[in-house]
This record gives sequence, C-alpha cells and structure tokens, in this order.
Amino acid sequence: MKDEIKNFVQFIKEQGLYPDTPIIEGPSTDPEILINGKKFLIFCSNNYLGLANKDFLKDAAIECIKKYGVGPAGARLMAGNLDIYNELEKTIADFLNKEDAMIFSTGYAANLGAIKALVDPLMGDQPFKKGDSVIFSDELNHTSIIQGCKLSSAERVIYKHNDPTDLENKIKDSSKARKLIITDGVFSMDGDIVPLPEIISLAKKYNAIVMVDDAHGIGVLGKTGKGTDEFFNIDNGVDITMGTLVKAFGTMGGFIAGKKDVIDYLKISAKTYIFSVPMSPVMAGASIEAIKYVKQHPEVIQNLTSNADHLRGELNKIGYNTLTSQSPIIPVLLGPEKTAINFAKDLMENGIYIPAIRWPAVDKNKSRIRISVMAHHTKEHLDRLLKVMKDLKKKYFEQPKC
Ligand code: PMP
Repeated sequence: MKDEIKNFVQFIKEQGLYPDTPIIEGPSTDPEILINGKKFLIFCSNNYLGLANKDFLKDAAIECIKKYGVGPAGARLMAGNLDIYNELEKTIADFLNKEDAMIFSTGYAANLGAIKALVDPLMGDQPFKKGDSVIFSDELNHTSIIQGCKLSSAERVIYKHNDPTDLENKIKDSSKARKLIITDGVFSMDGDIVPLPEIISLAKKYNAIVMVDDAHGIGVLGKTGKGTDEFFNIDNGVDITMGTLVKAFGTMGGFIAGKKDVIDYLKISAKTYIFSVPMSPVMAGASIEAIKYVKQHPEVIQNLTSNADHLRGELNKIGYNTLTSQSPIIPVLLGPEKTAINFAKDLMENGIYIPAIRWPAVDKNKSRIRISVMAHHTKEHLDRLLKVMKDLKKKYFEQPKC
C-alpha cells in the first residue's frame, strides 16, 4: 500500500498536476498580497466584504483572548459551553431571522453533523423509523454535503444541477416517509444561484424538508445579506440553513440555523457538535462583531455586488465563458486541466494570483480559474485584472492569422 501511495503522488507530480500552491507572506485578506517578497493582486479570497483584517475585529479578538484564553477546552456538552458561544448563536439567529442557531468548528463539520443527524434515526425507534429516509441532492453540491449524505444510511438521489423538473421526476416516485432536499444556495464552483422558489414549492407538494448550504450566500445575497432566501424575497420556506463565518464575515466557524425544535434535536444528535469542539472563543467574539457590522452597514454588500457585476460583464465582453454565474464567484471556463494550469501561471507572471480549479473539484474537461471578487477591490484592481485577461484571451483563444 505504501508503494501505491508513493507511486500515485509521483505520477501526479510527473504529469505536472500536483498543486504548487504559493506561500503567502502576511495577510491574504486584502486585495494585494506578498509572495516571495513580490506584490500580487489576489482574486481567490473569500473575504467577500473585506472584514477579515479590520481593526475592530482584531480588537474584539484581542478582548476575547484576554477574557477566555485561546481555546475552548472541550466540546459544548463538556467544558466548552461558553457564554460567548451562546451569544454568537443568538446573534446568528437574529441576523437571519431564524428561531435558533448552533455553531460548529467549521462549515464542513456543520454539514457532516447535521445532514446525517437529520435523516438517520437517533434511537431507531418512534418517532423515527430506521431506513425510511431519502436525500435529494443537487449534482453540483459542495463536497461537505456529499460527504454528509454518504455518512448517513439514507437513500441518496442525485438530481440534475438546478433542475426542478428532474427533481420532481425523482421525488414523485419516492415512497420514503422522510424526504430531505439539499442544495447549495450559491454554487461554489459555478457561482450560480439555486432556483429556490421552485425547490420550496416541490418540497411543499411532496412533503419534504429543505436544507440550503448558504456558505457563499449569507452576507452576500439580499439587501441585508440574509442570503439566498432574501435574494428571492422568501421569508419562510427553507427549513434548515447552513452557513460559514469564514467568507463574508471574515472569521471562521460553521453554523446551522432553523426552527428551535430542529436545533434542540441537532444538539443531541449531530456528532460533529457533540464530539468535536466549536471554533475558538476568539473567533466567536470577532464573529459577533462582524455580524453586527454587516447589519449596520448593508452598503458594503452593494459594493460587492457592483464589483462582481462589473467584472462579470467586462469578462463576457472580452469573450470569456463565465457559465451562469450571478454572484461574486465568477468562473472562467478554460477546459483541459493543462490549459487552466498554464493560464494560472501566466496570471502569476502578470502579478495576479488565481489558482487553477480542476478535477476532482470540477469535471476533468471543465477546468477553470475561479475569480472571487471582494467589496474592497478598487476599480484600479479590477482594471488591472481585465487588462491581463484581455491579453491572455489573445494568447489562448485567438489563432494568429497567416
Ligand atoms: N459549503 C460550501 C458551499 C463551501 O464552499 C465550503 C467551503 N468553504 C463549505 C461548505 C465548508 O465551509 P468551511 O470552510 O467553513 O469548512
């Protein structure tokens, strides 16, 4: 087995496919970063609203270090049930207009813990019957959803990406008592948005519950940043919302929000909540301030949307295929893996850092660079990227005329 592992890594390296991720010196949160002492413009950071390096968040974190130290010293059901975590959960629930919320160490852990717990019987007894669950999952859902589904004993049905007709064809034949529809709000590789109204109406028609992973939607979509529901002006329809604090809020940690009964249940059934620690209290304190800031400054979301719309529009004018992106995640489809890798290298040579995205994150022939725009990218930053993209378009896609 050891030889197999070694040979595999060697094979990937020989193919030139092993990720050669540069080391960033100092913060990666601002539009300009340092690699090997040289400045680069970064367009792959999820610090969407530009909060991660703000002084008021650093001050909140320092205050928490002084008060709590740096670690939680245990899981929530043991020594780790700190008042700051309860305050964060109330802050999240209040921001999203949900009855209650619970936190996890990361978004990944939130999906792993919550999905299995929702569909797998806790006791194998009433009110839950074993083997009576089915999960309907979009084919482009995030890996943490896929892994959460695989951990459970529920039947798994994959429906075509953002295709309510395919979902209906599959859900209408299901005789399972417990049905969960699960989808990203904003898809992390394509940047498009789930057709939520249609998904919710199918859930009502077929008596299913809806869970939305809104990692890239919360703090980004909707006038006040409540996410995909607010984007569609839906108040009540998503049963379970999952989110992460590492993107729009610039800190780290995951959460689930929803009805109080559901959160009460997950607190005694989600294994990654019970048997793993939450994020550090330092992150919890900073997260509370970040959420309060977004609540008081919704205009920062508008800056993000304007930057994203401008950049996407200009890339399309140059002739790039940005798929069906509607968000600050803007994929630029390049096709073969090697094209994407070379393209990313050329961007680096021109002072821009955007890594290539390829299999297994996306299909082998759908390699791409994935641009992430931030609210604090200036017009000058966007223009610099666009100029390089224009030049690379000629190099990669326009044959010289004889
Ligand atoms: N869901 C989606 C859609 C994601 O893009 C990510 C990755 N950040 C996660 C879940 C996992 O979140 P975290 O990084 O907080 O573990």
